[in-house]
Amino acid sequence: MKQRLIFATGNEGKMKEVREILADTGYEILSMKEAGIDLDIVEDGTTFEENAMIKAQAVMEVCGELTLADDSGLEIDAFGGEPGIYSARYLGENTSYIEKNQVILDRMKDIPEEKRSARFVCAIAAVFPNGQTRTTRGTMEGIIGYEVKGRNGFGYDPIFYLPKLGKYSAQLSSEEKNQLSHRGEALRKMKEVL
Ligand code: IMP
Repeated sequence: MKQRLIFATGNEGKMKEVREILADTGYEILSMKEAGIDLDIVEDGTTFEENAMIKAQAVMEVCGELTLADDSGLEIDAFGGEPGIYSARYLGENTSYIEKNQVILDRMKDIPEEKRSARFVCAIAAVFPNGQTRTTRGTMEGIIGYEVKGRNGFGYDPIFYLPKLGKYSAQLSSEEKNQLSHRGEALRKMKEVL
């Protein structure tokens, strides 16, 4: 029987990515829901790694099985790294990304190209049943663009421009994004650990 691995997220989009990337590890990958776990976890860490670890630890305490969790966000250098770990809550949890993205573009309107650098960051934490823990990190570097573009992805993808590709992140196919993304990189590093 395959050993089970629980990925602590309620986000189906993330689960699809996780399943694709970890497919050849030999683990049976389950979401929290599939594992029958319903937890409301307070992410009060100060780094992506701490928040990912808080989630993985909380779920592992309930199920006693190998648990992975991620935490991610967008760092904008012109804003001193914000929204960072507050990316999901930025400008209010219920504010749409159409609005959040427009506010960011407006605030960035006089900022020259060389100061528009930004990155998506993802930390993955693993907690093993014996209590051992590990974290990995992946990043995707780019700039905040000048307009909203593309229909793929989610969140801040439509304003995140990748100069080397000449495309916005929301213009990438899911295969392209898996290869380049912060989450893809962090997951592939975690695969080495497992
Ligand atoms: P969490 O990792 O689910 O706590 O959410 C992180 C937040 O960061 C998301 O709600 C998005 O706003 C943002 N974010 C993280 N990764 C991406 C991405 O690949 N594209 C666009 N936005 C992202």
